[in-house]
Amino acid sequence: LSYAEHTQGQALAHVGSLSVERATDLIELPPSTHRNLELTQTLRGEDAPTLLSLLDTCKTGMGSRAMRHWLTHPARERSAATSRHEAIAALMAQGFGPLREALRGVSDVERITARIALRQVRPRELTGLRATLALLPALRAALPPSPQPSPTVEGVLPPLPARGERVGREAGLSANMLAAREADPACKPGRAPQVRGLLEQVATGFAPPPEIATLLARAIASEPAVLLRDGGVIAHGFDAELDELRAISENCDAFLLDLEARERVRTGIANLRVQFNRVHGFYIEVTQGQAAKVPADYQRRQTLKNAERYITPELKAFEDKALSAQERALSREKLLYEQVQDTLQPHLPALSSLARALATLDALAALAERAQTLNWCRPEFVSQPCLEIERGRHPVVELRLAETGVGSFIANDCRLDATRRMLVITGPNMGGKSTFMRQVAITALLAAMGSFVPADACRLGPIDAIHTRIGAADDLANAQSTFMLEMLEAAAIVHGATEHSLVLMDEIGRGTSTFDGLALASAIASHLHEKNRAFTLFATHYFELTAFPAKHPRALNVHVSAVESHRNGGDIVFLHEIEPGPASRSYGVQVARLAGMPAGVLRQARATLETLEAQQMASAAQIDLFASPAAAPSAEPTEVERALAAIAPDTLSPREALDALYRLKALQQGN
Ligand code: ATP
Repeated sequence: LSYAEHTQGQALAHVGSLSVERATDLIELPPSTHRNLELTQTLRGEDAPTLLSLLDTCKTGMGSRAMRHWLTHPARERSAATSRHEAIAALMAQGFGPLREALRGVSDVERITARIALRQVRPRELTGLRATLALLPALRAALPPSPQPSPTVEGVLPPLPARGERVGREAGLSANMLAAREADPACKPGRAPQVRGLLEQVATGFAPPPEIATLLARAIASEPAVLLRDGGVIAHGFDAELDELRAISENCDAFLLDLEARERVRTGIANLRVQFNRVHGFYIEVTQGQAAKVPADYQRRQTLKNAERYITPELKAFEDKALSAQERALSREKLLYEQVQDTLQPHLPALSSLARALATLDALAALAERAQTLNWCRPEFVSQPCLEIERGRHPVVELRLAETGVGSFIANDCRLDATRRMLVITGPNMGGKSTFMRQVAITALLAAMGSFVPADACRLGPIDAIHTRIGAADDLANAQSTFMLEMLEAAAIVHGATEHSLVLMDEIGRGTSTFDGLALASAIASHLHEKNRAFTLFATHYFELTAFPAKHPRALNVHVSAVESHRNGGDIVFLHEIEPGPASRSYGVQVARLAGMPAGVLRQARATLETLEAQQMASAAQIDLFASPAAAPSAEPTEVERALAAIAPDTLSPREALDALYRLKALQQGN
């Protein structure tokens, strides 16, 4: 806080409370997961289409910021998510159209509040705040009745740390900050939702003191200038002195018209004009043709191509008076504007609460709109290990398919529980393995952030992390090859995943030689199954790994389906359906054909494939990939070793040495 105060050069009046966010309270989403699930940026680094760009239909900047925070900071403890689910259901039941319409007129109260605290608020921001305050009754009326809060969810991970004063003191909060925090229900993220519904909390935030609206209505003009220095910001009737100064400048027009009429008569110049501009002030303009008629008391101010501009003593005197009145009015406005900002300072906590309530409502209404438009369902949290998704979809791929009209998305189920913790997923390239794995992770994340999910039904046990190892990307800048990066990410997962984690492993081992890769993939799968016991989706092209489930009770084979269409001359048709059992073959050559590979290359590849497959069938020795490493040699030395140990080379003659060698050889053959 003192650092922030130091850099801002002033006290941070708008920081009314602090809440500590511990990494261990959140579902871990490592950077690779952010990247691979394309949460806020696509793999190419663009802002859309991403999960956030799909979710964020918020009407305000603060709503969008809340949405981003919910998505990227999902809590392990699920009461906040549950109360969001309740609120979304209530909004959908009641209809959110009028509410979202009203939110359209809401300003970024969060940012405006900070700017008031820093005394940097712009006039138009204050009128934005005024308009927002005027909308509150409509917003409140559009809120659905508060739903009954649901009982506390069981199976919470880890137990909620006692928040409140202890945390406050740890964070170095002053006594009055703590008092403000205790008074503000929205500052108790862990507790409040269990006490009453989220929408009821929102409604509480919608009650800023009426003085704020009254002050803004009286003090600020209906359409103020963008910048204070341009004037016209303080409303007429707010301050008598300002009104008086303004009257002087406003009477200007009448005086100038009168002067113009009089001078026209006096000089006989019919087209003489009295005017004003910011650079030259007031002047009398006469066309060049009439310049000879100008009286002696006219002093030349400026010569133009077709006209001369003059000033007279009378006009000069008026100019001094008018300009000084304008200057004084401006400085009076500045003073009054400062006073308005002073008066608003004590209301900062109320404005902050209002900002939080509006941001929450905007994000909830956007989630309700998404759930309805995209046909999502409300997920259910359970306390036992469980990840059950019925007819789940990948929301971003689904939307893109719909937009491009290429086809419709094929929904798929996923069922994992204490007895089924790993799916070994096989199937052709382009079959949809990566899409399926990602949609499972995205669904779990959406549920955890408090959103509805793209599925017909979803039950979710406690989750502490989502790990992903997908695709191959070099990080040359950091001197890491594709394979090194693959192993670094895999190692982090093997070290970090717990039985409450969700792990996506896509084609692990593909970055090195077949044997290396296969050996590593099978060892990693075994470790995840035996030691980590994480919920694991393991997509692979190594057919050898389809033998894994036979030897590992909690693993299961599934495959994405594809068929060869004889009508299309043997082209592969992807069905994108997840089916039980291993894939029967890989279709790599067919996919290459779809990609336009020349016929000669395809012919040669097919012939090589047939030879390789025949060789593999003929090879009798089947390696057991999943056997534990051979036991270490026993400590008991063999006879050869004992004889070897007994030899002292320095004491042997060449002849004895040769004899010893023959003896050892005989012993070894005897073995
Ligand atoms: P590879 O093994 O080459 O990585 P893959 O099996 O992981 O391929 P994906 O990348 O998941 O395949 O999917 C390829 C394309 O297939 C997607 O871009 C999408 O357009 C389409 N697709 C995937 N799943 C589905 C689905 N369930 N319904 C409709 N289209 C899908």
